[in-house]
Amino acid sequence: MIRTGLGYDIHRLERGSPGKRRRFLLAGVEIPFSKGETGHSDGDALAHAVCDAILGAAGLGDIGEMFPPSEPAWKDADSMALLRKAFARVKQAGWRLVNLDCVVICEKPKVLPYRDAIRNSLAEALEAGIDRIFVKGKTKEGLGPVGKGKAVEVLAQCLIENQG
Ligand code: MG
Repeated sequence: MIRTGLGYDIHRLERGSPGKRRRFLLAGVEIPFSKGETGHSDGDALAHAVCDAILGAAGLGDIGEMFPPSEPAWKDADSMALLRKAFARVKQAGWRLVNLDCVVICEKPKVLPYRDAIRNSLAEALEAGIDRIFVKGKTKEGLGPVGKGKAVEVLAQCLIENQG
């Protein structure tokens, strides 16, 4: 059987405070930038969208259910560790990833120079070859909050299969 899953996330981009600099992370890969993602965890919007895509495809809920923001345990959590836990659940249910395709939308920074590092990071977490993972960077042409550089938005779509 095959199933598709769709994930979406948006996180605000802020400079943070001197004691707490926010980082701009995409699937655990840090892109040097003046602003970073805010959030209860480390704010990694791509990791979160991919979590929702794979959990949704397997019918296993969503990231908010699995890692509630009300739980102190997930404060400043490494989102790639959360993704590995989510994938372990999906794998335990008998699924493997066929492919994953993602769109990262932000005005800055440029995603392209980091694309293969991001693909590698996702491939490792999802136990798939890098050829099964793709990530595209887009801008919003200056439109809306994302276009004004106030947020990063991510779409993720996956296909999973099992032997059933
Ligand atoms: Mg999120």
